[in-house]
Amino acid sequence: MIQLKFFGTRGSYPQSGSSFIKIGGHTSCVGLMIDHHLYVIDAGTGLISLANDLKRLAIKHIDIFLSHLHLDHILGLPFFAPIWEEGFVFNIYSGTAQPYGGIRRCIEQVFQPPFFPVPFEKIPSTVYYHDFKVGTVLHPRPMVFMRTVELDHPNGACGYRFEHRGKNIVYLSDTVHSPELENVFRQFAQGADALIYDAAFTPEEYQEKPTWGHSTWVEAARLAKAAEVKTLYLYHHAPWHTDEQLLEIEHKTRALFPETVLAYDGLEVDF
Ligand SMILES: [Zn+2]
Ligand SMILES: [Zn+2]
Repeated sequence: MIQLKFFGTRGSYPQSGSSFIKIGGHTSCVGLMIDHHLYVIDAGTGLISLANDLKRLAIKHIDIFLSHLHLDHILGLPFFAPIWEEGFVFNIYSGTAQPYGGIRRCIEQVFQPPFFPVPFEKIPSTVYYHDFKVGTVLHPRPMVFMRTVELDHPNGACGYRFEHRGKNIVYLSDTVHSPELENVFRQFAQGADALIYDAAFTPEEYQEKPTWGHSTWVEAARLAKAAEVKTLYLYHHAPWHTDEQLLEIEHKTRALFPETVLAYDGLEVDF
């Protein structure tokens, strides 16, 4: 069984206020529990609340897979309590850091004075860094395979397909869409139990921001249908979209693809 939990579902920057309570305001972070091992995709501010689950489940070892290194996908790292505890072990994987000196250098470069008071190399937990080439198949543990795919996003991004005992979870965020990409994504997501897709924009917003590297709920539905996925999760919500607007987006997407769920902070699903 795979237990999926969304810890942060916003993109770009965290959000708060009375119009954002139902969906939540944390940035990108998803957890997959497989055989009592936790795989985390992206380390946005949602990662901060994941610390409570670790304590409850007495987990000390986590694998973190980053889609890319934009701040909304790594900002949770220095505020993630277990990083500051001896005995915790983290593996951090990235397919997009190599042109910038590798994942270790990128993380240590961002989280050091004067941007952060304690240099990241001084943290007491153990962190192993792994760079990989996007397109390769990762095999982090027995019975867990992860296919990877290149996304179209400024500075690059990587999509993942987790496969475990016939269950498949696909994560495609952050990316634009195009007819060529749709073909690649359709094959990548084919028949998945869950497709978590970058639906940051409305089609109108996409017209205004074509270079921002995000997609729309219409494309999400089109891809989910073409790839015959079981459930589509709308994800990486624009921070300015209120609960009301997002629920309307969910409603409109369901008209195109009925098995659509608007991801929100705290949503848990078992596969
Ligand atoms: Zn993002
Ligand atoms: Zn990004």
